[in-house]
Amino acid sequence: MTGHDDCCAVDRRGFLGRGLVGGGLAAGLALVGGLGWADGARAASLTQAQRDAMTPDQVVQAMLDGNARFLSGVHRQRDFLAEMRSSASGQYPMAVTLSCIDSRAPVEAICDLGIGDTFSARVAGNAVNDDILGSMEFSCAVAGAKVVMVLGHTKCGAIKGAIDNVVLGNLTLLLARFKSAVDATEYSGDRSGKNYGFVDAVAVTNVRMVIDTIRERSEVLAKLEKAGKIKLVGAMYDISTGKIALV
Ligand SMILES: [Zn+2]
Repeated sequence: MTGHDDCCAVDRRGFLGRGLVGGGLAAGLALVGGLGWADGARAASLTQAQRDAMTPDQVVQAMLDGNARFLSGVHRQRDFLAEMRSSASGQYPMAVTLSCIDSRAPVEAICDLGIGDTFSARVAGNAVNDDILGSMEFSCAVAGAKVVMVLGHTKCGAIKGAIDNVVLGNLTLLLARFKSAVDATEYSGDRSGKNYGFVDAVAVTNVRMVIDTIRERSEVLAKLEKAGKIKLVGAMYDISTGKIALV
C-alpha cells in the first residue's frame, strides 16, 4: 500500500490524545502519515485533520485500498469501541456511499471501513430519490465528505426484478425506477432476468444513470463537483469475487 493515497495509513494510536494536543499536531501527524507511516492498529475514528488533508481522488483510492485489504483477508486491526468513543463528539467521514440493501454487499465490510469513515445510504438497486439526494447534500456540503460513491453489485435482485416486471406492493414503484436503465442497456444476448450477464449490464447502466441524476437534480453537489471539492464516482461490486471496480 502506498501511504500517500490512504487516509488510514496514519497510525491512529497517535491520535488518541488529539483532544489534548490540538489540531496542529494532528494535522502534522496526518502529513507524516501521508509520507507512508506504518499501517498500524486503528484506535480512533477519522479526524477532521486527516479527512481534510485528503483529495477526492485519495478518498476513492482509500476505499479501493480497503477493498484490496478485504480481498486479501487481512483487515485493518481496529477497536470499534475506541472509534465509537472518539467519534461521539464529532464525525468527519471521507465519503458518502449509495449502495444496495443486498445482504452480500455491506460497504463497510467490503471496503474495510470503520465507525466514522463514511455516510452510508442503502436502498434496493441503489436508487436515488429526493431523500437520498438530501442526505448526500448533507454529507458533502455540511459534513465535508469528499466523494459520492454509487455502488452497484452483480446479481442484483432489484435489477433482476425490474427486468422481469415483478409486481409486489410498494416494490412495484421502486422497481419502476430501473426501467429506463433496462431500456438503455445495449445487449445483444438474452435480455431476461435469467441471464445474469444482462442483469449485470443493466446494473452498470443504472449506476451511471444514478450518477447523471445526482448531477442533474442536485445543484449543491454539481457545484461542489465543478469546484473540485468533491468527486462523484460509480462502482460495481462483484459478489462472487469480492472485487470493487470503478465504472
Ligand atoms: Zn441489489
